[in-house]
Amino acid sequence: MAKIRAKDTKPEITLRSTLHRLGYRFRIHVKNLPGKPDIVLPKYKTIIFVNGCFWHWHKGCPEGRVPNTNSKFWKKKLTRTVERDKQHQIDCISLGWKVLTFWECEIETKLSDVIERVNRELHG
Ligand SMILES: [Zn+2]
Repeated sequence: MAKIRAKDTKPEITLRSTLHRLGYRFRIHVKNLPGKPDIVLPKYKTIIFVNGCFWHWHKGCPEGRVPNTNSKFWKKKLTRTVERDKQHQIDCISLGWKVLTFWECEIETKLSDVIERVNRELHG
């Protein structure tokens, strides 16, 4: 749990600077959209959420494990976060946005796949 930060995490910055280099222009941490999306590309009407593997419970990921201590508490808390994430996605979609969600571990280990997917979604 040492690597946990709420905002402006390293993978998020990595993705942002890569997108910027590719010429995409976006706004960050947009407060007037559901879930305060990390990256918003108004031109493409697309929202990108960058989910921390621990806080957003990336199941099957080593970073997304429920801690052994207070596991009941954590399970409840993480379940609530996952449900909230789902609701935010639904709300953004119903406002007419396309929503992409990436995990921090994907950005850290498979950045080229992530970028390929972004390109495909925006231009496909
Ligand atoms: Zn992960």
